[in-house]
Amino acid sequence: MAENIRKREEIEERYKWDLTHIYPSDEAWKEAYDRAAENIARISAYDGRVAEDPKGAIRTWQALIDEITPVYDYAFLRKETNNADSTAQGMKDQALRLYVTATTAGAFLQPELLAMPEEELEALMKDPEMKDFDATLRAVLLAKPHTLTKEEERLVAMMGEVAEAPDAIFTSLTEADLHFPSIRMPDGTEQELTEGNYSSFIRAEDRDVRRQAFQNIMNTYGAYGNTIAATYGASVKKDQFMALSHHYDTARQAAMKPLEIPEKVYDNLIDVIHEYLPVLQDYLQLRKKLMGLRELHLYDLYPPMVKGYQMDLPYEEAFDLVLEGLKPMGEDYLAKLREAREGRWIDVYPSIGKSSGAFSDGSLRTVHPYVLLNHNNNLDSAFTIAHELGHSMHSFYSNAAQPSAKSDYSLFVAEVASTCNEAVMQRYLMETLKEPEARAFLLNHRLEQFRTTCFRQTMFAEFEKISHEMAQEGIPLTKDSLSEAYLKLNETYYGETCVIDPEIAWEWMRVPHFYRAFYVYVYATGLCAAVSLSERILTEGSRATADYRKFLSAGCSVPPIEALKMAGIDMASPEPIRKAMDVFRETVKNMHEVTGV
Ligand SMILES: [Zn+2]
Repeated sequence: MAENIRKREEIEERYKWDLTHIYPSDEAWKEAYDRAAENIARISAYDGRVAEDPKGAIRTWQALIDEITPVYDYAFLRKETNNADSTAQGMKDQALRLYVTATTAGAFLQPELLAMPEEELEALMKDPEMKDFDATLRAVLLAKPHTLTKEEERLVAMMGEVAEAPDAIFTSLTEADLHFPSIRMPDGTEQELTEGNYSSFIRAEDRDVRRQAFQNIMNTYGAYGNTIAATYGASVKKDQFMALSHHYDTARQAAMKPLEIPEKVYDNLIDVIHEYLPVLQDYLQLRKKLMGLRELHLYDLYPPMVKGYQMDLPYEEAFDLVLEGLKPMGEDYLAKLREAREGRWIDVYPSIGKSSGAFSDGSLRTVHPYVLLNHNNNLDSAFTIAHELGHSMHSFYSNAAQPSAKSDYSLFVAEVASTCNEAVMQRYLMETLKEPEARAFLLNHRLEQFRTTCFRQTMFAEFEKISHEMAQEGIPLTKDSLSEAYLKLNETYYGETCVIDPEIAWEWMRVPHFYRAFYVYVYATGLCAAVSLSERILTEGSRATADYRKFLSAGCSVPPIEALKMAGIDMASPEPIRKAMDVFRETVKNMHEVTGV
């Protein structure tokens, strides 16, 4: 593979993004950098004086951030296309230092705003002159009852490094110290097993390879179970300490309230996913039959159930397919996608030194989003185009409609626009592709997306809820108590169809997300919202796309739940989760039909 990767100079210009839209040259970037560096002094001038002129302080801060963002992004994007370019690396490091210097210089702003009387903050939020900043001020008001006195906050801040210790210990353990027994391959050779390559071994066609990968990983974690339980237990207690000391009732409330997400969103998700566990069993039964297994073990869940299907899709064809598939999104949406392609927003092909993966950078409000791809001439890559451009369109519409202080969309909806595009594409392909192999391949992909995102992440969310409740009730968080809780969850989710291999009890020990509590549920709610939205767009047409445009344009001007309501999706109710789960049920049914099993 590696020898096929081209040098960047060998790739046609029109397949590379054009950073001159940000700055015409590195010299122009340097000038902008110098100006921004000088302007940091403007915000420093407000230190200790925010209450005297809060409007000036807030505006000055936003202006500085608006000035630094393109400086940082230009350097960052430039480096992404060639990580071996030391000039680009140097520019990026320099830009990062500029950003850190600015945020350090402006660190007084938030605490000084929080120290202002509530009535003054409210008046400021309602002041027409400050309309562009009402969301910023709403967040300050929301945080105010959870802010301590200056002296207390100083003490808590001093605890900061200690509070980060569980995460740091976990990272050192898993990234540096832990080693896993290697895998005996069918040809007799041994292959090293790491967290990085586990996902390819657990998808292996050879069952013994999968079994070894599963057991070697889980048992190794299990052997360090007391240490990891103590580490995770400390993390849960840290969550509790931070929450209670800031006048929240629970750690979950502390995680959700600042994002303005009602806690019932979390509980609804768990309840509805439980309602649909029988559909998951149907899927698992189907998997068992298609794989021709007498028993379905937990290490049999990841390999494809059907033979690989390859569709040769060079970039231009893949993009045309995306345009065709996303037609239901409306003509102006499609026009923007074409503009992204022709206007060189996208860096298409892999090249030597370029970063792997794909992303959309939507923070350049006055330019346009940029998209990094590593196009691979297959169907997965076509889905990646649809996904990343979904992010780009969300950024594009929000940037166009909102002032910069309100253009960033919330984490809660971060994956909605991207996965909505994927869902619309999926429908289109199911209608147009006729070969059973192609349809089975698509359905397999979709079913796994539902299982790993909706079911697995919800199970994780449930584990976090349980572990934090245990801590609240004073139940010691030990290797045994936590593993027992995790094993029970696996029995609930998979037990009816699968053999619950005992090693699964240790799996919670390897999940890094647990050190950032009450976050994984967003993956599941995001996919459910996106699937519900795509159904609405496909059935209701232009009325739905007009509403969808309102959601895309909302940025963070309203809480994320309200933004989704504009598109007709009420995540405070269980309905969108049910709707998405009904699509899952239908997908299982389609897979039965296509495979005749
Ligand atoms: Zn994404």
